[in-house]
Amino acid sequence: MRDRIYLCLAHMSGREMEFIKEAFDTNWVVPMGPNVNGFEKDLAEYVNHRKDGQAPLHKSVVGLSAGTAAVHLALIACDVEAGDEVLVQSFTFCASSHPITYLGATPVFIDSERESWNMDPELLEEAVKDRIAKTGKKPKAIIPVALYGMPYQIDRIMEIADRYGIPVIEDGAEGFGSFFDGQSLGTFGRYGVLSFNGNKMITTSGGGALICPDTDSAREILWYATQARESYPYYQHEAIGYNYRMSNICAGIGRGQMTVLEDHISHHKHVQEMYCELLRDVKGITMHGNPSERYDSNFWLCTAVLDPDLRIKGQDEAYRQVITGAVGGAAGVTHAAATAVTDCQPNANVEALRVALDRANVEARPLWKPMHCQPVYRNAPAYVNGVSEELFHTGICLPAGPYVTDDDVRYITDIIKDSIL
Ligand SMILES: *Cc1c(COP(=O)(O)O)cnc(C)c1O
Repeated sequence: MRDRIYLCLAHMSGREMEFIKEAFDTNWVVPMGPNVNGFEKDLAEYVNHRKDGQAPLHKSVVGLSAGTAAVHLALIACDVEAGDEVLVQSFTFCASSHPITYLGATPVFIDSERESWNMDPELLEEAVKDRIAKTGKKPKAIIPVALYGMPYQIDRIMEIADRYGIPVIEDGAEGFGSFFDGQSLGTFGRYGVLSFNGNKMITTSGGGALICPDTDSAREILWYATQARESYPYYQHEAIGYNYRMSNICAGIGRGQMTVLEDHISHHKHVQEMYCELLRDVKGITMHGNPSERYDSNFWLCTAVLDPDLRIKGQDEAYRQVITGAVGGAAGVTHAAATAVTDCQPNANVEALRVALDRANVEARPLWKPMHCQPVYRNAPAYVNGVSEELFHTGICLPAGPYVTDDDVRYITDIIKDSIL
């Protein structure tokens, strides 16, 4: 049997150890130091560069322990407090919305449009108006998400946000290396979130960063990330801080990873092109691609939707068994599932295709289940149009990482074709 093909596995450049060794040799084994500074400089240079030839931007970047920490601190910097509301894309991974609840605020979920699969600007504006009418105050922030790396309609989202004076926090955790109109995601809004978790475009084993508008706001984020200490000879605290700074060891991995970032991105794009080519003539399967020239997705994951009428071998047996282990289960502990089904799940043909690929030693995954369909958010307000729920019912993520070879893509697409009845 061939080695298992994973969705997106961390891939080292070979340079990581140099930076880590330097950290040990110079005794910087702490959550700050030369690697953190160097990594932040590399990140800032990368996101500030514009592909359209215009002058670079002047954003500052702060290295943090996780992308989730970056979302949390960005919300604090936008003054989000208990009782406030934050508008957030529903079609996302939970880390976009969970930090809103850490602050005692309420996430208000916004559904997606069909082109990018990200935040629908029309629903966004409807929600802004309706929340103001219902609560008498403005939502404190807007969080669009670059799901699977695909850029959102940031021009329209920024226009609405600016018109109502609401700051935008871009969740670019999956979209590092994605551009819109030649400009890096994460640099349009007031803040931009990056993640370097083990399965993202590049990894620091675990880590994240916040793109900030200027050095002053970056200093404020840094202050919150290091327990909010006042300058006295003793610990003096006048605000609640967090222990969210990136470690110098992790940043060393990040500096090594920056040397292969461009290779990773072109490889993901190449794999996407191959899927499109090899599945072009397969009826009932549609790859998700850039809606127009303005979008430049990193194709962190390659995704497809299955026509509900497409028949896949074994689909009548789908969901018969309770699944043990869970999505991303390798990354943490999961509770045992009580039931084989829930009231909102992918169609049987999607599950059957996932199982067929799994049996052939290929990891595939349904699209993320929208937050407004998650039991934990059953009471949160939501502005929906059915798009993200339909995508969840019909979509699948295919392997795209640096280890996926041309031969693997042919193997995967052959299994897909063979699975169709
Ligand atoms: C991974 C991810 C995050 C959080 O990043 P961590 O580094 O895992 O904390 C946030 N938002 C989205 C959409 C993500 O996929």
